[in-house]
Amino acid sequence: MHRNLMNEAKNSPLYDVIVVGAGPVGLFLSGELALAKCPVLLLEKATEPHSPLKQFPFGIRGLSAPTIEALDRRGLLDELEVHRRLKSPHMNAVEGERRQVGHFAGIPFHDGEVDPSKWKFRLPSSTRPSLVSEMAEMETVLGRHAEALGVEIRRGLAVDDVSQTEDGVTVKSGPHSFRGQWLIGCDGARSVIRKAAGFEFVGTEPEFTGYSTKVDLADPQKLRAGRNVTPQGMYLQSQPGYVIMQDFDGGAFHHSEKAITREHVQEVLRRISNTDVTVNALAIATTWTDRARQATSYRNGRILLAGDAAHIHSPLGGQGLNLGLGDAMNLGWKLAATIQNKAPDGLLDSYHTERHPIGAQVLDWSRAQVAIMRPEPSARALHAIVRDLMDTRDGATYMAERVWGISLHYPLGGDHPLVGCSVPNFEFENGTRTNELMRHGHGVLLDFDGNGSLETWAGEFGGRIRYASDRVKESLGLSTVLVRPDGVVAWASVGGPNEQSMKQAMAAWFAQ
Ligand SMILES: Cc1cc2nc3c(=O)[nH]c(=O)nc-3n(C[C@H](O)[C@H](O)[C@H](O)COP(=O)(O)OP(=O)(O)OC[C@H]3O[C@@H](n4cnc5c(N)ncnc54)[C@H](O)[C@@H]3O)c2cc1C
Repeated sequence: MHRNLMNEAKNSPLYDVIVVGAGPVGLFLSGELALAKCPVLLLEKATEPHSPLKQFPFGIRGLSAPTIEALDRRGLLDELEVHRRLKSPHMNAVEGERRQVGHFAGIPFHDGEVDPSKWKFRLPSSTRPSLVSEMAEMETVLGRHAEALGVEIRRGLAVDDVSQTEDGVTVKSGPHSFRGQWLIGCDGARSVIRKAAGFEFVGTEPEFTGYSTKVDLADPQKLRAGRNVTPQGMYLQSQPGYVIMQDFDGGAFHHSEKAITREHVQEVLRRISNTDVTVNALAIATTWTDRARQATSYRNGRILLAGDAAHIHSPLGGQGLNLGLGDAMNLGWKLAATIQNKAPDGLLDSYHTERHPIGAQVLDWSRAQVAIMRPEPSARALHAIVRDLMDTRDGATYMAERVWGISLHYPLGGDHPLVGCSVPNFEFENGTRTNELMRHGHGVLLDFDGNGSLETWAGEFGGRIRYASDRVKESLGLSTVLVRPDGVVAWASVGGPNEQSMKQAMAAWFAQ
């Protein structure tokens, strides 16, 4: 980092936050900050927002329950159309009477086998617990939302250096310099911010090279339909001509940076599928690996990381986007409160404390899938056992909890099992739902028993806690629930609220 960048940037306006990277995470996080009235500059190196790899079918991403809830809480879910037009590949695969609703290492689980009654306090109720989206559409919707809130998005600017002092940060892109109080690196897996700011990034090396290709096959009937785990790897023809493969080469091809030629794709496809299929032409091809790494800290002074910049892992099980959007939802309100001097001690550091363990779990989840997909007899044996377990009700329910993000929980303490979980989308008798109360990014105090003194207490926090009182159709036995701006339950009570404990919870998350 070069401290003299500060001088070059002295004529630039001072932004509260500079976000680098207008992928889904940078866009959503910028919107969260702007919702809290922080001036945000978002810098993106690409001039064009969309590449073919962000469009159907390569750009299709599975959305988990926490992501769906987050989008609904900001009024964005209804703007995403793709999930209405498309049925999820996980959702529409019908095997006899059974509908596939997810997978682990390619092993499917089915909706009739999942037991949602186990999730009394964890079941999000806005919509289905898993949907599909398209990256291009997601970025369009999030970009429109961010710009409507006042985020300044500047494209065609690749950040190449950063510096920080006690008071602020300076970001450099070629001859341009920008100043901010805070900087967030949302610049993806190869993050320049992470490297320039000296974040440690540790983890495990890859076992395979993954390929996403659009090919013209002379004899497509030689390939089997669906996901095929073979002794040499895995191939999947998701749509006619769209082939995804995993080749257990230790990630060698991906790291060789050799051009992906038609001949190479044909050779890999023939080897993995054990056929003599012919690739006539190669239209699109990209590679990826199962390298799994995570920043040891998500914050270094005034510089923070979110999304793939903070953690990378294989796309198996499709959790990276969900993980990154979860980072954004967690960080936005905390950084805004810090900037506005409305943050209790330690609020900003709770971003790392809460999100780092969630990221570590996702990395392990992807490693576990790779471990049982290896083309070796011990992995095949383990694969068969996991398949048997997933065929049981408890096994399918466990998988659904993990894959759909139902089990996501922050250990915040508290007496009630709902504390630390996503708030259920309670429906008031007038038809309003909890998620609708969260459109403006405030905390919410839900009072199902009409206890007037609670409104006064919420009012002591300068409008940052909205009070809502009415009967709900299903209260799950609760009388009062304090919800953070990110939809996480900070405190909950059955029966009359204990004044002292509720005030402590309010003060822990919202400064007066
Ligand atoms: C094949 C595949 C399938 C996947 N499937 C799923 C799935 O089903 N579900 C799921 O949740 N996840 C999935 N993922 C993962 C998901 O796509 C990523 O985790 C997600 O895109 C990360 O978002 P991000 O905003 O952090 O990073 P990115 O989407 O990588 O965005 C980073 C942005 O930063 C910009 N940038 C980079 N460097 C600079 C710089 N120096 N200056 C300025 N801008 C810069 C880039 O141009 C880019 O726009 C999949 C990934 C792959 C490869």
